[in-house]
Amino acid sequence: MLNKFILDAAVKRHKAFFKLPYELEKQYDLYLAPTVRRQLVFALSAMLVLTVAGFVADAHDGILDRTFLLRILLHIPVLLLCLRLVQRSWLPPGRLWIVGVAPFTVTLTVLITLAAISPVTSGDRFMMTAGLTMIATNFVLPIKFRVAIPMSLVNIALYFGILLILGGWTRFLEYRDILGFYSAATLITTVVTYYRERVQKEAFLLHLNKDRQTEELVALVDELTQISYRDPLTGAGNRRSFDMRLDALWRKATLHGEPIALIMIDVDHFKPFNDAVGHAAGDECLQAVAKAIAAGAGCPIELVSRYGGEEFALVIPSTSGAIAESIRASVEALQLPHPGLPPGHVVTVSVGKAFAQPGHIPSHQDDLIRAADEALYTAKRLGRNRVAVANKGPTPLPTRRARYGT
Ligand code: GH3
Ligand code: MG
Ligand code: MG
Repeated sequence: MLNKFILDAAVKRHKAFFKLPYELEKQYDLYLAPTVRRQLVFALSAMLVLTVAGFVADAHDGILDRTFLLRILLHIPVLLLCLRLVQRSWLPPGRLWIVGVAPFTVTLTVLITLAAISPVTSGDRFMMTAGLTMIATNFVLPIKFRVAIPMSLVNIALYFGILLILGGWTRFLEYRDILGFYSAATLITTVVTYYRERVQKEAFLLHLNKDRQTEELVALVDELTQISYRDPLTGAGNRRSFDMRLDALWRKATLHGEPIALIMIDVDHFKPFNDAVGHAAGDECLQAVAKAIAAGAGCPIELVSRYGGEEFALVIPSTSGAIAESIRASVEALQLPHPGLPPGHVVTVSVGKAFAQPGHIPSHQDDLIRAADEALYTAKRLGRNRVAVANKGPTPLPTRRARYGT
């Protein structure tokens, strides 16, 4: 994930100096690599076709005997080799331009050599084709501006040098207009590479920015979703998360016959607690109780839901009776003094549990909730700080009060 500040700085710097920081430049090369490969294949293929067409022109001019070996042994093999190398994945994306520039420079060298060693009538054609090749290099090769400048200078040097060495001073003077025109045109057309790179880099930075914004948005939605399922006071799930979890487990229970249990937990004598020490202390007590419930159930606190006020609920995909008792014991083990009760009393909870088993699934979720609620009421009625279980054994829900036990 790209840091926002690095990206913003890169955009500013890019505008000023037209160069990206090292890591970004590498990312840019990677981003552009598929396009660069496609363009190189196109440019090299076109060059190959033109070279084959050159044979026809050579035959027409009657100079095939001079050009044949140079084209067959050097020119065409280099083009074919580079065409193959473009597809090679081991070539770093930032170095792909080499397999484009190399064959174009070889083409240029071959054409100027041919211009120097051919009769003047064909020499004109070779000189102009060589000049056009230099210009085309800037247009069709996907090269960066900082490569285009030295490459154009090297090409111009070859253009002048080879002609002077192989053709001599007379040939050189004969072609001085062509030399001058194409060399100037080559330098001017480097501007194309400048603007092309600039447009591509801007598109790349926009693309990165869009990616970053999308990532931020996804993270934000994720965070908001988490918040919308959490009880801010205790960090447990809220009523919405309870409904969702009950829904999910209920579907499993009814579709696949898996067991499901609902445990309702209520803090005993909580009103006197608040009345004695105030709401803030009551809140702290609720936080401690929520943690103890999760610890007793052996689950993350998000799976425990604050059902309302000082009441919590837990849905589990099992009918194990041990969890309800473990929750009760865990809260009692906190040994939180209860300031609203006579000295020696600690904060405790009453727990009501209802469950459904395969073949004994109540017709509606509300039946399960009602059964657990009634079991909780029974636990309160029987003296608090205890567990009451509804529908003991495989009895279809809803159960009658008479069947409740502790
Ligand atoms: P019982 O043992 O029968 O459950 O008695 P109780 O006093 O716990 O039950 P009652 O329903 O009479 O009181 C519940 C109290 O819980 C009343 C209310 O002030 C308190 N309460 C509910 N929500 C919050 C809360 O978010 N923070 C605090 N501090 N107290 C709360
Ligand atoms: Mg209570
Ligand atoms: Mg209550």
